[in-house]
Amino acid sequence: MNDNLFAALRASFPADLDSVAIETDDGLCYSWRDLERGTAMMAVLLESLALAPGARIAMQAEKSVEALMLYLATLRAGYVFLPLNTAYRQTEMEHFLSDATPAVVVCSSANLDWISRIARQHGAEHVFTLDDKRSGTLLDQAAQCADQHTAAARKSDDLAVILYTSGTTGRSKGAMLTHGNMLSNARVLKHYWGWQRGDVLIHALPIFHIHGLFVAVHGALLNGSKMIWFAKFDPKGVLARLPEATVFMGVPTLYVRLLAEPGLDTTAARNMRLFISGSAPLLLETFRQWTERTGHTILERYGMSETVMLTSNPYSGGERRGGTVGLPLPGVSLRVSDERGISLPPGAIGGIEVKGPNVFSGYWQMPEKTKEEFTADGYFKTGDVGKVDADGYVTIVGRSKDLIISGGYNVYPAEIEGYINNLPGVAESAVVGVPDADFGEVGVAIIVPKPGAQPDPAAILSSLKAMLANFKIPKRCHVVPELPRNTMGKVQKNVLRERYAAPG
Ligand code: AMP
Repeated sequence: MNDNLFAALRASFPADLDSVAIETDDGLCYSWRDLERGTAMMAVLLESLALAPGARIAMQAEKSVEALMLYLATLRAGYVFLPLNTAYRQTEMEHFLSDATPAVVVCSSANLDWISRIARQHGAEHVFTLDDKRSGTLLDQAAQCADQHTAAARKSDDLAVILYTSGTTGRSKGAMLTHGNMLSNARVLKHYWGWQRGDVLIHALPIFHIHGLFVAVHGALLNGSKMIWFAKFDPKGVLARLPEATVFMGVPTLYVRLLAEPGLDTTAARNMRLFISGSAPLLLETFRQWTERTGHTILERYGMSETVMLTSNPYSGGERRGGTVGLPLPGVSLRVSDERGISLPPGAIGGIEVKGPNVFSGYWQMPEKTKEEFTADGYFKTGDVGKVDADGYVTIVGRSKDLIISGGYNVYPAEIEGYINNLPGVAESAVVGVPDADFGEVGVAIIVPKPGAQPDPAAILSSLKAMLANFKIPKRCHVVPELPRNTMGKVQKNVLRERYAAPG
């Protein structure tokens, strides 16, 4: 039996290969046959390069169906895919290309000069270009190749992808994911989220990250479902196509931006079956407003590069609870432990640890780091801090690295942020720890006001004093127009920590 992830996705294509698989925002239609042939030609091209087994194929290119085909072709030919965020610049690319030493690098022609120099310095034998509008040397050369290809035989624990973690808390590490990690997770989600015949997915996320590349793409392909494909998220465009779709996946920022569109209402969402959110915490206010406006309850789920999806609120047969990330998915074992590694009872806050067929095989060329991040009984320490309530629902309270230890007391930023967000005039907030001569560390609150509001920092701090223990009260408060976020909508607390390290 072939455990190649591509083979499983291909087996789910509908019988009618001429039906539409992907419709792009600029009006192009790709059939399932186009996907079959396009990925075959790219797989044949990759094989013709006589690469070493396990060779890495790195891609830093704008989102396009051809870029997606390169991912699928890499799986099909049995090599290892390395997607890179299009925002990365020279120093970052140096790090990734020197660390992963890909044999093939694919980039946009605008970046060819400097990327090919770095790539060749680190041993890449082939550099291709891939641009939007279906051009570039990758496609020119693939066009010369045969359009039939049998998927390379791969075992479940063979490496398929190296995904560099988003690095909001430090230098990116390469998470090694196998064919089995991703296929097992995609199959669980297909069942758990009730994927049905006739589902149509709006794909508006980037494809260098687990959310857009794995959760969304694998979900649609494994269900033989059409995707409406946006090269970039555009709230008006998404809203216009909503009546043709049944499933939408977004990071919280996308939901906030859709809510700003006056046309978002129950009529626009009338054919939708499911709205899914993840990758960063969804504010309760967004969760509630979405239900009021569309009549749909957002399903929030939680996962990470190292583990793909871990928990999800129920699709059916249970309540979707705002502020929680739901229940561990079938096959995922999740527990909360204290610093000594002792499992904690329901309701207690500690480090989230997980085990399951979806958990990665380790960090690329970092055996020591990998060992440190697993417990003796094989659980991966996620670095997230949270709790499980008596009904099994998981709530994330923050990243362990974001924990503030002030005068010896643990302060969980998410708890304080929750209180601040409920104060009048506050749209959202972030609390970070900065060094302090007296307490070791103190909290600083950074607040974004609601439109038209002018919250007073001193009044915010005194309101908090009335509600919380003194050691939890941030020592300073700043009002800013917006929080710094990465492309996946995560607040960059490392940036805030640097910015607000000194008083003033
Ligand atoms: P990444 O590897 O870039 O996908 O980042 C994974 C991290 O994003 C997790 O470890 C969590 O800290 C955070 N995350 C993902 N989903 C959620 C969610 N639904 N709520 C809160 N944090 C989340």
